[in-house]
Amino acid sequence: MKLATFTHDTRTRLGVVTGEEIVDLAAAAPGLPHEMRAFLEAGAPAMDAARSATAAAGHRLPLSRVTLEAPIRRPPEILAVGLNYRDHVEEAKLPLPEFPLFFNKQTASVTGPYDPIHLPRVSNKLDYEGELAFVIGKRARHVPKERAREFIAGYLVCDDVSVRDWQFKAPTWTLGKSFDTHCPLGPWIVTPDEVGDPHALELRTWVNGEERQHSNTKHLIFDCYDCVATLSTVFTLEPGLVVTTGTPSGVGGPRRMYLKEGDVVRIEIERIGAIENRVVAEPATTVTA
Ligand code: ZN
Repeated sequence: MKLATFTHDTRTRLGVVTGEEIVDLAAAAPGLPHEMRAFLEAGAPAMDAARSATAAAGHRLPLSRVTLEAPIRRPPEILAVGLNYRDHVEEAKLPLPEFPLFFNKQTASVTGPYDPIHLPRVSNKLDYEGELAFVIGKRARHVPKERAREFIAGYLVCDDVSVRDWQFKAPTWTLGKSFDTHCPLGPWIVTPDEVGDPHALELRTWVNGEERQHSNTKHLIFDCYDCVATLSTVFTLEPGLVVTTGTPSGVGGPRRMYLKEGDVVRIEIERIGAIENRVVAEPATTVTA
């Protein structure tokens, strides 16, 4: 199942994408929550109800007539893994990590799969990172690696947009990873049954149609299940928490090929889909004082 958050006629709600259509869950299963975090918190019964509604006819809209939003717009947390592909560690000229290098992206950075990315007014060192992300579906604490898959609701594409000079102002990286609009997510959450093995997916990134990254999630140093096991050793993972697993080689920074206004970044992951975001100058409307 491809679970989406969409806007149609000024109302934002949940849907299930099937081919070129989207099943409007607010109409097809009105008892379900209309927001993804609440939907995931409702657990397996909600998932089953969405599946039944999708199997039935009706309450469908053409995908072309709706706006897809970030499938989860305010995750409880966003954790990201740094330096999790060997070839990216090499291009960054850093030692291979022996433990996953988790850092936070602020949840305010989330934006939609086709929404603009801001070129910040304080930097021109804007960079892309194509990544496989996953969403927690069930409260998780002290989950062993072998059982981690039970706690994952699904997978999605993430651009871990990075502002390189701000990233390296401090060892935690948080600020340089957290500018508004710097976490495009989507285009939907694909449930594990449709993804199959999450560690055998081709991943590609293009900038203005030119391929910049091409790898496979089989090259992850610490895989999705390692991430669940490690994080849940420390704190309770709530439904809706997003983990983005790291980027392969081919980011712009090491080549001084930073993103400019007008550039279009497309990231595609096999069996999941693609997100595509245009870089725009940070608008004057972001200023509140
Ligand atoms: Zn990253």
